[in-house]
Amino acid sequence: MYDCIIVGAGVAGAVCARKLAEEKRKKVLVIERRDHIGGNCYDEPDEFGVLIHNYGPHIFHTGMEEVFAFFSRFTEWYLFGHEVVAKVNDSLIPVPFNLNTLHMVYEKEKADRLEKKLIETYGEGSRVPIMKLRESEDNDIREIARYVYENVFLRYTMKQWGQKPEEISPEVTGRVPVIISRDNRYFADKYQGVPKNGFTPMFARMLDHENITVCLHTDCKDLLTMEEGEELRILYKGEPYHGDVIYTGALDELFDCRYGRLPYRSLDFQFEHYDKDSYQGHSVVNYTVSEEFTRITEFKFLTGQKDAQGTTIVKEYPFSYTGAAGEIPYYAILDKENEALYQKYKALVSGNHKFHLLGRLAEYKYYNIDIMAKKALELAEQI
Ligand code: FAD
Ligand code: UDP
Repeated sequence: MYDCIIVGAGVAGAVCARKLAEEKRKKVLVIERRDHIGGNCYDEPDEFGVLIHNYGPHIFHTGMEEVFAFFSRFTEWYLFGHEVVAKVNDSLIPVPFNLNTLHMVYEKEKADRLEKKLIETYGEGSRVPIMKLRESEDNDIREIARYVYENVFLRYTMKQWGQKPEEISPEVTGRVPVIISRDNRYFADKYQGVPKNGFTPMFARMLDHENITVCLHTDCKDLLTMEEGEELRILYKGEPYHGDVIYTGALDELFDCRYGRLPYRSLDFQFEHYDKDSYQGHSVVNYTVSEEFTRITEFKFLTGQKDAQGTTIVKEYPFSYTGAAGEIPYYAILDKENEALYQKYKALVSGNHKFHLLGRLAEYKYYNIDIMAKKALELAEQI
């Protein structure tokens, strides 16, 4: 009765479902084990009426017109240039480290000289990963690199990953490069912001289509069975299923972690409400040299909400995911060993060309919302 079954109602599942239902006229069943749609982008008002992001701060940002246009069908936007500051001792400095930060850290004459050298070496407007900056043979540039490494990256990365910056994939620290310009924005993308009324209403509209059925509170294993043989067969409610299945959950879980768990970092979110207008006056403050948490988000500065009483913040405490009940695998740990383990699991499904892996969990990748949406649109197109 369903042409396609999608496991997971996050970005990957919702975008794919809409395109399949609308353009391909497929009857789609979306199975979601949580009691809500939206995956980790889910947001809702807390008990004080403050719109919070339950799974950590989410800012939509993209340079892809197609993705922006797709989402814009389901929401209006509160657009801004997202800025982050880092608390270093008693100062708040712009992150990514840029020429404004340089002038806050060094006295004028030295900052002017260093700025000139950075521009001459890398070009105005360039974005240089910290690990690349550290390789410089120039003493001045090495000094800047040392400052940035020690004051922005080392402690934050140790908290977030339990490893030093040089021990993790360069792709990860490369997300926050040193910027050779006066641009204080965290992202370089043309469009940055949040859905005007929140992510959840946007996903609700996306999934609201006559060809889409959403089944919450349901683990896919309650409805789907993987039958291994020469090729993987899928049963829906015990009967052979011949439609397409798009799986956006963790791949190891599908096979009861038989080769061992895929390693992830998780986060413990501590929400606090204050009966005052502002807690920190910024949407996001990164704690790069102190504290056990990595960052504090103050939601009303992120969402632009004006009608809430008081203010709600969240602190993020990273830890190593163990798979215990209630823990959520947030970040894949990108290294060769983990990729090899992932490929072992992937081999179990690769025989069935109607079984598709899509999403940050299912593909064991560090995807942002926009690239996730792009991949979901592409997969739906291909189906
Ligand atoms: P998910 O959102 O994880 O959705 C997967 C869904 O599948 C979940 O709802 C899950 O419950 C469901 N599921 C899993 N297994 C099963 C099962 N067995 N049965 C039924 N359902 C199942 N990206 C940005 O672009 N900007 C940001 O600012 C940003 N901030 C982030 C902050 C944090 C703390 C984190 C962790 C991520 C952030 N991201 C951000 C990334 C963003 O969250 C992801 O790109 C996006 O959520 C990925 O969507 P997804 O559908 O792949 O995964
Ligand atoms: N990072 C850091 N200090 C910062 C910001 C980022 O060390 O102030 C490093 C850290 O390793 C982090 C990575 O850069 O995990 C990517 O940062 P990003 O803000 O993109 O992480 P996310 O928002 O995805 O958690």
